Amino acid sequence: MDSPQRRRRPSPEPSTCWGIPPPNHAVSVPDVGSAGAFIRAHLAAASPLPPITVRNWMKEVIWFNVFVVTATPLLSIYGLCTTVFRPKTAMLCVAYYLWNMLGITAGYHRLWSHRSYNARLPLQYFLAVAGVGAVQGSIRWWSRHHRAHHRYTDTDLDPYGAHLGLWWSHLGWMLVKPRIKLAPVDIKDLQNNVVVRWQHRWFFPLTFVFGLVLPASIAGWFWDDWRGGIFFAGFLRLTCVHHSVFCVNSLAHWLGETTFDDKHSPRDHLLTAIITLGEGYHNFHHQFPMDYRNAVKWYQWDPTKWFIAFCSYTGLASHLRKFPDVEIQRSLLTMQLKTLNEKRNSIPWPVPSDELPVINWQSFQSEAHQRPLVLISGFIHDVGEFMDQHPGGRKLLETHVGKDATSSFFGGVYDHSNAAHNLLATMRVGALQGGLELLHETAVPPCSKLQIVRWSPSAVERGAVVQKSAVVQTCVMDH
Ligand SMILES: [Zn+2]
Ligand SMILES: [Zn+2]
Repeated sequence: MDSPQRRRRPSPEPSTCWGIPPPNHAVSVPDVGSAGAFIRAHLAAASPLPPITVRNWMKEVIWFNVFVVTATPLLSIYGLCTTVFRPKTAMLCVAYYLWNMLGITAGYHRLWSHRSYNARLPLQYFLAVAGVGAVQGSIRWWSRHHRAHHRYTDTDLDPYGAHLGLWWSHLGWMLVKPRIKLAPVDIKDLQNNVVVRWQHRWFFPLTFVFGLVLPASIAGWFWDDWRGGIFFAGFLRLTCVHHSVFCVNSLAHWLGETTFDDKHSPRDHLLTAIITLGEGYHNFHHQFPMDYRNAVKWYQWDPTKWFIAFCSYTGLASHLRKFPDVEIQRSLLTMQLKTLNEKRNSIPWPVPSDELPVINWQSFQSEAHQRPLVLISGFIHDVGEFMDQHPGGRKLLETHVGKDATSSFFGGVYDHSNAAHNLLATMRVGALQGGLELLHETAVPPCSKLQIVRWSPSAVERGAVVQKSAVVQTCVMDH
């Protein structure tokens, strides 16, 4: 389907040669350099069409697109109710579906929208014709929208922004006139491509022939199933192709994991990958869009990747682009650390040593007469609630009350496990003044030795202060 080129919209506000309103414009232009400044400036200058209401919706609908997406499933259902679905026609449907899908996934998407590999002319024509049979607009129209989708993901400049809901991203955006003029994207390479130009020029006759006439004729000529050819190989196959591809915009931004980044909505999921011939690892794809793969693991479902690799083997494709593995691992690890940090924050931890009160030896001794306090590694522990649960018995603990039990805990009497050390740290009630053991490795429970540190501007400031004081100390020592 194609979008109408001529659009009636309110006369534009005065703007500079960059299309951005002058400083005294009613809509404020954000500071240069702030996040999304270009997007907000473009939106301010875009003069969007009015919201769709009960009064104006008839004028705002693109009736041709509505006709195509409603007529094809209705005619498919009519065919299923009135026509025998013959096995040969069923096989043709599957084969033609796969060809169309490859035209979109390996052609429209990974070759022309993202230039993730180079294709020789025969392969380009093969994919251009396969894609035209999917009846989803020309390569040029489709790729232009898709590049805008990647550049402005989840903003109002995203033609099928997932932030506007599943229905909008799946189908709604095609059924009404675009509310905002398509934001600038570079398509010079597409304008210079001979196959893209040829397909765009002859789009409507080509899409009629390869979208309906050819599949219907194959079934009609070869096994005399004209009705099956039209209803099943034509309309039913087309309905399936449409909604499979539409799922990349909707389901792939809604269902699954944010494996490599959670800044935007794209997600990875096997189900979407199965429906879309491998485009379901969409979180990876949005992070590494010029990679010819969507799935990086050998066991993940990505037939489009396998097809491109096969074409490379035969010499029809070359220069298959891959992002460096180290970049992929970095993104993956970032998200894994984030998940671990969230898990870590969901359970209680020992009180940090710098938040404990500092207690001198005399206070420790007198307090130990009131409650069972034990000194280990410079920290004072209240073991009252643990006395009866101590595997070594209550008596053993009682003999250490008011004393330094560091050597007994770390092997003198029993070499305690990491879990015991972690548990002990939760009983800390104070730090002994002058307790030099605080600097020792045993002062840190195993659960606190490896931690995720979150970056923040204040942390950087603190780091700078620490560094500065370290420099001062060094200077003093030098003198
Ligand atoms: Zn996407
Ligand atoms: Zn893409």
